[in-house]
Amino acid sequence: MKQEYLQHIEEFLMNNDIDFDKNRSLKSYTWIQRGGVVQFWIKPDSIEKIKSIVSYLYKTQINFYVVGATSNLYFQNDYHPEVVISTLRINKIAINKDYVVAECGALSSKLSVECIKNNIEGFEGFTTIPGTIGAAVCNNSSCFNSCIDELIDHIEVITKNGCINLNKNDLNYKRRSSIFKRKEIEGVILRVFLKKQIALNPELLIKNTEKFKYYRKKYQEKPQHNLGSVFAEIELKNTLQIMIWKMFKKLLKIIHIKKDKQLKLNKQLFFIIHGKFKMSYYVSDFSFNCFVWKDNKADVMFFKYKSFIERISKKTELEIEIVDRNYFKQYK
Ligand SMILES: Cc1cc2nc3c(=O)[nH]c(=O)nc-3n(C[C@H](O)[C@H](O)[C@H](O)COP(=O)(O)OP(=O)(O)OC[C@H]3O[C@@H](n4cnc5c(N)ncnc54)[C@H](O)[C@@H]3O)c2cc1C
Repeated sequence: MKQEYLQHIEEFLMNNDIDFDKNRSLKSYTWIQRGGVVQFWIKPDSIEKIKSIVSYLYKTQINFYVVGATSNLYFQNDYHPEVVISTLRINKIAINKDYVVAECGALSSKLSVECIKNNIEGFEGFTTIPGTIGAAVCNNSSCFNSCIDELIDHIEVITKNGCINLNKNDLNYKRRSSIFKRKEIEGVILRVFLKKQIALNPELLIKNTEKFKYYRKKYQEKPQHNLGSVFAEIELKNTLQIMIWKMFKKLLKIIHIKKDKQLKLNKQLFFIIHGKFKMSYYVSDFSFNCFVWKDNKADVMFFKYKSFIERISKKTELEIEIVDRNYFKQYK
């Protein structure tokens, strides 16, 4: 049944005027240029079109991924998904009497600029974040003083049983996680309704935005070849190595070494002290929680890095999502 429908999907897309690419390498679409060959990369350009293709896929029981900018997804090179829907072309932003309304594929950074232009506060931190607002809702994204869980009012979602509205409380937010990220619900976020809070001091919005941009440029990894923080949470064990490393960190602060130099030295010592010098090459100078896919060997190194961090930690929670053939088994 499923295979039969998969053959008909092309016909369905053409009949409904929904744009798509066929049998393409995911490397040309994904943020860190990873992934196998996707059978259908679907690019709807309106809410109506995404609703119709998603309903078709639910009805025919074909598994599909919905992605924004893929800035938080690590598609495995040996995994060849059948269907991926990109939301990037569904990206209108409107400001009405009560809400800022964004379609799922609107870039969070663009939304932020639009809000600042209209004197609406709370979005300034998102000027510097990659990705779409649909994914930001799924991930409970936050950046500097901007947090999705404080800004959101409600969302429109399409599920197997049709369209529903969900309020902030229904999303059961935890750090960088929601019912969508934890796969407690199967659905596609269509529109996001955000609180419209008029700023009392419009100049402060611009000032803060400039400050955040400066800070990210100076103290965070450049956006290419990485997915931001790998772990949402890391609680390190109190081992001798970690204790020595923490003392070294304090010492660097006391002797007033410049902050960017401090960050680099901290990282290097962290890996050297654990006998992982080679690994340190793939990790950002700014944080040991940011892995950089610098070359083809990075894929093997990433899994070594992941188990190393998990081994030296009391508790970790992955922030990025690894997409392989087990992905759909996560749905509860
Ligand atoms: C350099 C860099 C810096 C970053 N800094 C931060 C930061 O400061 N704070 C922060 O919170 N994050 C940060 N991130 C992570 C990332 O930018 C955010 O998580 C962002 O929200 C992901 O958006 P995306 O469109 O790329 O999502 P994708 O990676 O495409 O998708 C992420 C998840 O959202 C789901 N999804 C996407 N669209 C929908 C939809 N319409 N309906 C349902 N589910 C959907 C996907 O299925 C997937 O599970 C950073 C990433 C990078 C690369």
